[in-house]
Amino acid sequence: MVTTIGIVTSGGDAPGMNAAIRAVTRIAHAKGLQVIGFERGWDGLLTNTYRKLTPRTVGGIIQLGGTMLHTLRCPAFEEPGGVERAAETLSMNNVEGLVVIGGDGSFRGAVELSKKSDALMVGIPATIDNDVYGTDETIGFDTAVNTAVGAIDKIRDTAISHERIFVVEVMGRKRGFLALEVGICVGAEVILIPEKPVTLEEVNKLMEENAKKGKKAGIIVAAEGFGDSSKMAREMQRQTESEVRLSILGYAQRGGSPTARSRLLASLFAQKAVELFCEAKGNMAVGLLNGKIISTDLKKCSETRKPLDLSLLDTANMLAT
Ligand code: ADP
Repeated sequence: MVTTIGIVTSGGDAPGMNAAIRAVTRIAHAKGLQVIGFERGWDGLLTNTYRKLTPRTVGGIIQLGGTMLHTLRCPAFEEPGGVERAAETLSMNNVEGLVVIGGDGSFRGAVELSKKSDALMVGIPATIDNDVYGTDETIGFDTAVNTAVGAIDKIRDTAISHERIFVVEVMGRKRGFLALEVGICVGAEVILIPEKPVTLEEVNKLMEENAKKGKKAGIIVAAEGFGDSSKMAREMQRQTESEVRLSILGYAQRGGSPTARSRLLASLFAQKAVELFCEAKGNMAVGLLNGKIISTDLKKCSETRKPLDLSLLDTANMLAT
């Protein structure tokens, strides 16, 4: 009997998930494994909805954002009996290994499933938030950074022409990885992230000092999770001499064609994931650490808070003088 592995994309979509689906499928086939792709995240395992994936059916998707398998936040999976039903689906289809492509929430789901199923679980970190422990970078992060940088460069033109301050909100409800990297790359005057509380008075003071230096235009990059960007822009406008505008970048950051880097990461992570199955190793997540593709304990990755290097804020401040 041919060994079957399953793929599921779960949680928020990220550019490069398709490249990962393609690579898992092709590398698994090269090693003599059969692959099925569950549809709409964990829901596909609850409803036994899947499609057979072959090297041909995953053609032409490496350059596409999103996920061809669709994704869904699936509370039913967490309800009593949900994980058991998913485990039954795996055993009914003789799935001996499951590749879970997603963020830390998806990894937690995989850990729960592994308690009820004999199938080997391997996590591939894919989220634009880059907030998964055990990897320096997640699939999709580089694409989202580049998308946001491209948009903010355009906003900067207006900021300079009108000598205005723009508060630009980027994604990141819980963590500031995206805001920090984007902020450095656009030369933001201020970067606001959930990990580092800053008062409006401090921001106003800095922008006023900048204005005195002749720097009247400015970009403030704020992570969604820092606070109410709209209120902040309004209050800044009220409390200072500056003209302040708000721009929320929103969902455009999640989509689009993955960058070369996101595709490469997806392909190399996929290779490592399939190799782990071939070595009969489960409950692992693949990752990039110091330039090497590695694997870490899945449970640890799902439970541990990834550290953010706050010294980069000091670097950004020096760069913005
Ligand atoms: P992400 O993977 O991007 O972090 P979510 O946090 O939305 O996204 O999680 C993805 C999926 O994993 C959701 O469908 C959710 O129901 C499931 N999930 C998250 N945590 C658990 C858990 N502790 N047990 C079972 N399923 C979980």
